[in-house]
Amino acid sequence: MAGSYRSYLHCFNGCSGSYPVDSILYLCPHCGGLLEVQHDLDALRLTAPAEWRKLLDSRAATTRWPYGGGVWSMKEWVAPELRDENVVSMYEGNSNLFWADRFGRSIGLDDLWVKLCGNSHTGSFKDLGMTVLVSVVKQMIADGSPVRAVACASTGDTSAALAAYAAAAGIPAVVFLPRDKVSDAQLVQPLAHGAHVLALDTDFDGCMRVVREVTQDNSIYLANSMNSLRIEGQKTVGVEIVRQFDWTVPEWIIMPAGNLGNISALYKGLKLLQDLGIITRLPRLVAAQASRANPFYQSFRNNFSAPVAMQAEATQASAIRIGAPVSYAKAVQAIRQTDGLVEQASEQELATAAALADKTGMYACPHTAVALAVLCKLRQQNIIRPGSRVVVISTAHGLKFSGFKSGYHQGSLPLVTGDHANPPLELPATAAAVRAALDKRLAAQPAGSARV
Ligand SMILES: *Cc1c(COP(=O)(O)O)cnc(C)c1O
Ligand SMILES: [Zn+2]
Repeated sequence: MAGSYRSYLHCFNGCSGSYPVDSILYLCPHCGGLLEVQHDLDALRLTAPAEWRKLLDSRAATTRWPYGGGVWSMKEWVAPELRDENVVSMYEGNSNLFWADRFGRSIGLDDLWVKLCGNSHTGSFKDLGMTVLVSVVKQMIADGSPVRAVACASTGDTSAALAAYAAAAGIPAVVFLPRDKVSDAQLVQPLAHGAHVLALDTDFDGCMRVVREVTQDNSIYLANSMNSLRIEGQKTVGVEIVRQFDWTVPEWIIMPAGNLGNISALYKGLKLLQDLGIITRLPRLVAAQASRANPFYQSFRNNFSAPVAMQAEATQASAIRIGAPVSYAKAVQAIRQTDGLVEQASEQELATAAALADKTGMYACPHTAVALAVLCKLRQQNIIRPGSRVVVISTAHGLKFSGFKSGYHQGSLPLVTGDHANPPLELPATAAAVRAALDKRLAAQPAGSARV
């Protein structure tokens, strides 16, 4: 395996010019559009597809540091110029992909899989991108860069990941959160990691505006997904899914979408596999949006004739409450190139989908619930056929969103009727009362019934 792979930042809109991946540059200096990391495909293609498969299979989930981690098992495709000593990893990735048999059957689907990306260090799939970004910053500082800190605006999960990885690297972190709009767990995470937590009286889009200004002097490095390094890490989820299916491609992948970095990243990872000859077709990608924060859905309905920006309204799916998504152009490419779709789910639809999924043993966060609700819709319309292999990407751990769960079961969520609420039975402490209550309950639900 040659150790001389290269990557550069290029303008996504095609302006000329290429920049080192460790330059402090977030947007194209010519057109102001997004940048993206491009890899030297000719060099990567010198290794045969079967060799790459063997290499990744031999590394992933081993303790060979850092190559055992899910992201770093494909280091040559992610950050080839990063020196191993600068990798800041907590073995993110390698998350379980499980057959959601019972939920799948309840909607007439035999081959439904859920990729549990929330089973990760900080409880969301944002760890995948953050390990890459913080590692590159560590190398920049080692090489003499004057960067003093890393910063991000966040709907809660990006800041948790940034704070944890920065703490692991010993780099100061500054996080900008919309006040009272993230879950308790998400607020506590960066506090615990010693980050400078700034709670601003605005929404995510407002925080984004401020952090862009504050990071303009280049001494504070911007860690939002406008930064293409994050996308390089996030793209590994697509590769990992294919690897977990023994290098075969599912027909559909559904993912909740807000700022649109992740749906773009999913496409980028899969496209790389195709460019390297490891797969020959792409899955159809579905971006799932909350209907109260649905600018991408609206643009899709206009055939992507123009980006839509809106004031995103409150939704249980708070991590995708974004009105002006930064990675719009890349996400349009992801949907177009895969014959993909954008669909939406209401508060009621997402809450019901979460409740039904939980009754089959999942523990869906509200964003995963948006994806599951969209799956149900596409199944009902028979756009997704009964025999199709479908993967839903679960983006965060349900335990980060206890307020959503308890609100549902206590009947206190706005705009939601808890048809499947399961509040605790309060009983006198006598065996007779317990027996009577259980007899009644269990008669209504025979063991082994497939009904969800
Ligand atoms: C960030 C995030 C998303 C959406 O990713 P985008 O890149 O913003 O589209 C979905 N779910 C969760 C839990 C997230 O934290
Ligand atoms: Zn440009």
